[in-house]
Amino acid sequence: MLSFSLRSGSSGNSTYVGTSSARLLVDCGMSGRQLASALKDYDIDPSDIDAILLTHEHVDHCSGVGVVMRRYNLPLFLTEKTYLAVQSSLGNIDESRVHFIEPGAPFGVRDTEILPFSTPHDAVDTVGFRVYDRTGDVGVCTDLGYFSRDVRTALRGCRFVFLESNYDVDMLETGPYPRYLKQRIAGRKGHLSNDDAGKAAVWLVRYGTEALSLSHLSENNNHPVRAMMTVREAFHVNGIRVGRDIILQASPRYSCSPSFESASPQIGHKSASVQIERESESLKVDNKIMLPSIERESASAQIGCEGVSYQGECEGGSLQSENEQLQGEAGSVNTGSGNRLKQTSFLSPESLDMMIGRNDSNLIGL
Ligand SMILES: [Zn+2]
Ligand SMILES: [Zn+2]
Repeated sequence: MLSFSLRSGSSGNSTYVGTSSARLLVDCGMSGRQLASALKDYDIDPSDIDAILLTHEHVDHCSGVGVVMRRYNLPLFLTEKTYLAVQSSLGNIDESRVHFIEPGAPFGVRDTEILPFSTPHDAVDTVGFRVYDRTGDVGVCTDLGYFSRDVRTALRGCRFVFLESNYDVDMLETGPYPRYLKQRIAGRKGHLSNDDAGKAAVWLVRYGTEALSLSHLSENNNHPVRAMMTVREAFHVNGIRVGRDIILQASPRYSCSPSFESASPQIGHKSASVQIERESESLKVDNKIMLPSIERESASAQIGCEGVSYQGECEGGSLQSENEQLQGEAGSVNTGSGNRLKQTSFLSPESLDMMIGRNDSNLIGL
């Protein structure tokens, strides 16, 4: 498995997820030329991509979809409602290459299983994706007003997660946006704040997530250092050690993030040719975060969260009560990841800088 963000934020979003059998692009909020240039960083040819998965119709996610479909003859997977909303902006595409999906209904690309799940957002039918792979699943979850039950159910035990951390509450409140826009961003169908991303991140780690990339950071209402510090603080308060229990980074706005990578005997990516041979061996690979290869069964066994039940949730309930519930859920389970990462992962110097916020100029291009 190899995964990285190509662009992240309101100026464009795209995430690459490569499994043992498929190369996937989640969203394409960038031009064809930008896509080719970004993938070149990882020695990936855009024509080798197997499918584009679209989360929703907002332009920062779909601006390049039509062009890239035509240029590389790629299939597109999206919900029917999203297709109707985005159709006119795609231009002249081959409709036989369009495949409808439904939230909650897994589908396949080659031998890779993918679960689309609903996220609460102000688009017609927004989804996130969990991509399954024997070496660890990847979740892409941005554009959500709150960390809903659907999202939690879909991402539980997901090894790598790109999670929205859109705005700092104080920066949004004191910033220049008009009141209605502030309310929209902070609303139940808006975006996830750093504070709520911190709570969500704690929950995810408790259920087995080992690497997080904070994504879709607002240019005007956030700063990568603020986002990282807020989430780190949430980890600290809950006894989760960054760099040991969890790898944490922020997805850059205009460039590729370091990749999350785990070895698999079947991986065919050129850039994934260096693999961990033994669990005790660290590898120095620039701009990559290497994790040990695991089988899905053993990963879920390590999570150790089965039997923990949700205590019911009203979609219309208050944010406060849901956050409290989130904390309660997270606090009631054991951390399964322990120090597995300490022994086996390699963090590039750039990644370490990101973790401690020393190199923020490289993160978002502010
Ligand atoms: Zn959106
Ligand atoms: Zn967006």
